[in-house]
Amino acid sequence: MPNEKPKFYLTTPIYYTNGLPHIGHTYTTVVADAIRRYKRMRGYEVVMTTGTDEHGVNVERAAQKAGIPESEFVAKMAVAWKALWDELGIAADEFIRTTDLQHVRTVQWLFKLCKENGYVYKGHYTGQYCIYDNAFVSEAKPGDNCPDCGRPLETITEENYFFKLSAFQKPLLDFYKKNPNFIQPETRKNEIISFVEGGLKDLSITRTAIRWGIPVPGEEPHVFYVWFDALTAYLSAVGGPDYEKRGFWPCDLHLVGKDIIRFHTVYWPAFLMAAMLPVPKQVWVHGWFLMDAAKMSKSKGNVILPRPIANMLGMDALRYFVMREIVFGQDGNFSYDALVTRYNSDLANGLGNLASRTAAMIEKNFGGTIPKPGPRLPQDDALVKVTSETIEEALEKFENFEFARSLEAIWAAIAAADKYLTSEQPWALSDSEADTQRKATILWTTAELLRIVTVLAHPVLPDSTAKVWTLLGQTGRVAAVELDGLRWGQLATGVQLGKAQALFPRVEKQEAIERIEAMANEELNPAPAPPAAAPAHATTAGGAAAAPASTEKIGIEDFAKVEMRVGQIKTAERIVGADKLLKLTVDIGTEIRQICAGIAQYYEPEKLIGRKVAVVVNLAPRKLRGVESNGMIVAASVGPEGRPVLAGFPDEDVELGARLK
Ligand SMILES: [Zn+2]
Repeated sequence: MPNEKPKFYLTTPIYYTNGLPHIGHTYTTVVADAIRRYKRMRGYEVVMTTGTDEHGVNVERAAQKAGIPESEFVAKMAVAWKALWDELGIAADEFIRTTDLQHVRTVQWLFKLCKENGYVYKGHYTGQYCIYDNAFVSEAKPGDNCPDCGRPLETITEENYFFKLSAFQKPLLDFYKKNPNFIQPETRKNEIISFVEGGLKDLSITRTAIRWGIPVPGEEPHVFYVWFDALTAYLSAVGGPDYEKRGFWPCDLHLVGKDIIRFHTVYWPAFLMAAMLPVPKQVWVHGWFLMDAAKMSKSKGNVILPRPIANMLGMDALRYFVMREIVFGQDGNFSYDALVTRYNSDLANGLGNLASRTAAMIEKNFGGTIPKPGPRLPQDDALVKVTSETIEEALEKFENFEFARSLEAIWAAIAAADKYLTSEQPWALSDSEADTQRKATILWTTAELLRIVTVLAHPVLPDSTAKVWTLLGQTGRVAAVELDGLRWGQLATGVQLGKAQALFPRVEKQEAIERIEAMANEELNPAPAPPAAAPAHATTAGGAAAAPASTEKIGIEDFAKVEMRVGQIKTAERIVGADKLLKLTVDIGTEIRQICAGIAQYYEPEKLIGRKVAVVVNLAPRKLRGVESNGMIVAASVGPEGRPVLAGFPDEDVELGARLK
């Protein structure tokens, strides 16, 4: 029989899709992805599941508000969630939607098993109901008002199916005792044990007042209520009724936020026990990112969005920050200040700088070939020792989900390498034979340390470590390196360095924060499409989607509203986090304007300086990717891709500020 890899199955929560992901969802999902990558590098066959919880009254309402059917609404949301995870380098193996047929069948099957085993009965549920919103308000008392519309709630009784949760008090307590690692961290376990010891009430698991849900077979209009539906998705994703074929159930690890711990550690194992199915091995409960010590929420307006951060600093910066900044399991504060500070210190000045200076010195001294080291001195031995200890420490901490500690250990090795270079000063050595050999030793040693930290950091920084791997001339994928075989001394000599790619360009803190906030603001409050400001067949290279060319005739007075003047480009630079945009300063005769133009893919910034262009000067200022743009540069749009070609004045000596008429 072939040597089979051990299996590992982990999940994020199945996220509710009445809105888009914020940093909280991102946090759990990034952690899951890093664990997935790490386990693979330790030789496991891993499945990671994430997905979208698409039923219930809030989705019903959100779809209604958007004016589209629920099925269309949830399909769009699932696409949007998936797209964001892709942008953040999250490679889930399974993306389960609770509207998937496979999931619907699994929920109905689980219900049947629970019912056959005598743990489901029909009863009556009494709750506070808003007749305008057609929804029960859980946690409301008689006489309360509806939290959504403010109208008085009514006490209503409806027929429901109930799950006999009360029968599982003892089985659950026994289970926690026999499986002391089921709930992590420890403090959470104690909280749940005392909750269960306090007695369990039976649980209503169906509703008749909700329309958008999985039907209970033969019992319409009953549909399954949230938890019986959503939790089951973990099982649906790996085969549902046929889970044994795939061999990934029971789940090894559910990652959850502290607000949903009870559902995962009480309801979920009880449902599975009732159906006589295997119970997951572990639920790991993490804390929240807080803003000013308050949980982030859309209604409070303190939502942090992941995309603007990834656009500005790169997806790895976001991933690194959430895993480095807070102790997994505890709450932590989120601030842009801390984010950008860490980016500059740990990524730009840390890993990025070590990689680029090491490569530059190998380039300069050894023509880009990794040199053969000479005899080692005590200071070299010291660095070898630090690195070997780092391997052990970083893996041990990661294994225990002490991600911040693991990264801390890796970055301590990076700092040790910086210190080593500073004290060894390879740049001060001569070209004599002895000095050259010493240089070779120093640079090989530094490159070997760099290779090792690159492998260790890969699960958290998949994108940038792959670039460093290429830079070091390593073949194969860094993801394919086996962590258990990682040792000092494996860096081959004589290997040619690969292509250098930008890793973490340093950013100016205040500007970076302003741009992230501006991009978040653009995402939260999308501006309506701007009206076409330029005449037909020309386009403004402002970076926004071009309005379709209109064939409708306009009067001269309409044209006169657009004020175009001759300007001259004084400076041009690329914008970090915006591949298509250039930031220009343009002299329009009376003043110098900052203007963003969507031409970065077609024009080298340095070649634009001095060029005369046509500028729309009376356009209201706006922000593009967080950068203020005060005016527009006029360009023709050429070819099917709409390649911008700048309108200009190559032959005539036109005066700056001259008006185009
Ligand atoms: Zn209401």
